[in-house]
Amino acid sequence: MAEKVLVLGGRFGGLTAAYTLKRLVGDRAEITLVDRYRTTYFRPSIPHIAINVREPEEIGLDLASVLPRKGIAFQQALVKQISPDEDSVTLERTDGSTFKASYDYLVVALGAHLAKESVKGAAENGYSLCEVEDTLRLREKLAGFKGGNITIGSGIFEQGSNPKPKFPNNFVPRADSACEGPIFEFSLMLKGYLKAKGLLGKTKITVYSPGEYLSDLSRQSRQAVRQIYEQMGVTLVEKFRLSEITTDSVVSEDGRRIPSDVSVYKPPYTGHPVLKKLSGSLADDAGFVPTDLNMVSAYPNVYAVGDANAGSIPKLGYLAVRMGEIAAQHLANRMGVPTKVDEYRPTIFCVADNPYEGYAVAVADDTWYGGTLAKAEIAPVNHMKKELFTKYYMWSKGDMVLEKYLASW
Ligand SMILES: Cc1cc2nc3c(=O)[nH]c(=O)nc-3n(C[C@H](O)[C@H](O)[C@H](O)COP(=O)(O)OP(=O)(O)OC[C@H]3O[C@@H](n4cnc5c(N)ncnc54)[C@H](O)[C@@H]3O)c2cc1C
Repeated sequence: MAEKVLVLGGRFGGLTAAYTLKRLVGDRAEITLVDRYRTTYFRPSIPHIAINVREPEEIGLDLASVLPRKGIAFQQALVKQISPDEDSVTLERTDGSTFKASYDYLVVALGAHLAKESVKGAAENGYSLCEVEDTLRLREKLAGFKGGNITIGSGIFEQGSNPKPKFPNNFVPRADSACEGPIFEFSLMLKGYLKAKGLLGKTKITVYSPGEYLSDLSRQSRQAVRQIYEQMGVTLVEKFRLSEITTDSVVSEDGRRIPSDVSVYKPPYTGHPVLKKLSGSLADDAGFVPTDLNMVSAYPNVYAVGDANAGSIPKLGYLAVRMGEIAAQHLANRMGVPTKVDEYRPTIFCVADNPYEGYAVAVADDTWYGGTLAKAEIAPVNHMKKELFTKYYMWSKGDMVLEKYLASW
């Protein structure tokens, strides 16, 4: 009889795990993917909506049609509770009714919680970069902008510490921010956007960071970013732990204030509320799931991948995809299909795009984990890579089977 596999979450981590497992085991698994939303958006292109180079429908996938075509069932529902001792999950349908779904294997890919509520004034005065509805609001705000102060920065990251993932220690560095790639990217793309609108000379851009900016990159790459900012006239403020956004400023925990007419920010990251309730059993003290290198949690039939995994540092799409593949490969063996399980090797691959000026900065770096790879290259071809990456995701319906090859272009 087919094993029942529930995958919770339908973005990089969950989609990769579901597609890879289906490809590997076929009818041996009855896979159902659960997400609260029917449409999933390609997150690396969500910031592009704010500067008018993408429309939401260009980067959205309808899970209810793309998954069944590949033999995976889709359930639109809100995950209310995971009961790992009972092998079941409580789900709430869109009509508000709830039911329990049981599983033989569970893959948790619910991401992190973006804690807007922990920054005072953020709901009214802040402009998050992270979801489509956020960037549509930001787009409107920027459309009416005539010059002044713009701030861009990341909220703090509540990283767990107990229990630790069963990863080598150097794979899980301590991070002040969950990931500052989108901040760097938005500062670049905003410059191009403002220049095209004739507003660059009338705008002061300040980028702030809760720790050392882009601390996940090598010293040389960080130096290169500083030089780019000097040339762009961007002010960088470090060790600025965001606590409040007012109508005309952003304020740090230690009371520093930066003038700000448009406050673009990435909310603080903490563990998903459903997982936080399981701190001490499935999850760590911050609500992230510690696993071993096969992505198996303290419960042998529960896997965790992507931003929800305590070992995914920084919270990056590339790591979510790699974790999703590894979890599926490991599970395929348990279902009787001999499969090579890839080795998990964290590396930072990302592309910070500037579409209005037709270039991007491509980063490949593993120095944070003790490696020697440290590349940060500015080139027009990198902008094309980002375009192709987006098109590939949409064409493959979120099945990132070539991700590991694309990353090393
Ligand atoms: C603005 C921005 C730009 C980024 N750009 C890049 C980039 O260029 N390259 C890169 O590698 N990484 C990038 N990242 C990071 C990357 O997007 C994340 O690391 C990645 O999305 C993590 O994937 P995930 O599947 O683990 O979690 P998520 O993407 O967070 O997906 C979680 C899914 O679970 C669903 N869900 C959550 N809670 C519930 C619930 N209770 N019930 C049901 N469903 C639920 C959500 O709807 C969502 O679909 C970016 C991040 C941001 C915020």
